[in-house]
Amino acid sequence: MHAFVVGNVTIDETIGVAEMPTSGASILGRQLSRDLGGKGANQAIVMARCGLPTCLIAAIGEDSRGTSIQRRLESEPLDPKLSSLANGISDYSLVFTTPDGENAIITTTESAQSLSPSEALSVLGEAAAGDLAVLQGNLTDATTRTVLEFARTKGLVTAFNPSPIRPYFAELWPLIDIAFVNAGEARLLTGASGEPALRHLLAAGLKQVVLTRGAEGAMFANAGDLVTIAGEKCPVVDTTGAGDTFMAVALASSRLRGTALDQRAIRHASRAAAITVGRRGTLSAFPTTAELANILLTA
Ligand code: ATP
Repeated sequence: MHAFVVGNVTIDETIGVAEMPTSGASILGRQLSRDLGGKGANQAIVMARCGLPTCLIAAIGEDSRGTSIQRRLESEPLDPKLSSLANGISDYSLVFTTPDGENAIITTTESAQSLSPSEALSVLGEAAAGDLAVLQGNLTDATTRTVLEFARTKGLVTAFNPSPIRPYFAELWPLIDIAFVNAGEARLLTGASGEPALRHLLAAGLKQVVLTRGAEGAMFANAGDLVTIAGEKCPVVDTTGAGDTFMAVALASSRLRGTALDQRAIRHASRAAAITVGRRGTLSAFPTTAELANILLTA
């Protein structure tokens, strides 16, 4: 069983601010970290650290950030398949974080948007029925849709994190087996929160939906069950990457045990995400391979 993550990779610059800037404001900040990030890379790295054979399909630019991205990915236990945007700029994120651990993120997508459907499919063609295809919202509409349609015809299990939200995402639900949404995304997609939001998404064609709710934990629903899992009590330093850690561990936990997403996978995901929120940065905040191995042994 392999996972193929088709997504973005960035360099994340984390800046500490006393409070979030408002329109027109000029405020002081302090550089706290410079780290590998991007939802695609984050999810791929955490899945690979869980022990799931994982391939990351992504695009970078021909610049120093691209070189740095390549070097960092090579030190992870995953298989990076990077295409290069000629003379292009690698994507980066500016992460603003406040003392209470909240964040606001601006991500450029020039490289991610350059990943063509044919580049993605040339790698995804190696996937076998039952493998996992994982996507987020940073690619072009054409690449996202083509990859999901291809995954369906090949019998892959598809997992989607609709972030950042695009208006047409609702059209994709019939192509998706498992969706992970946070509270803000659920509200934008359904106009509701909690259980009504999950019911709305299931009725719209999704088979399984996980709603993450920050410190409050997560809810998980499929046609038969709706389960609420409390959040872990933990120190909060920087929540960047918590959602990506959660999704990656939930998927890896279930796939490594050969089961569908279950309560145990959600508990594993909550424990792993609690480690990420307790540390500064993106990649450097993620649980290590050893920490994940311990979590995956728990009930
Ligand atoms: P982010 O954008 O910060 O990466 P997100 O908005 O996509 O995250 P959240 O719902 O905020 O997603 O968090 C994902 C998961 O991380 C939660 O379901 C929970 O398990 C864990 N988590 C997030 N914040 C906290 C917190 N303050 N305390 C404990 N766990 C947390």
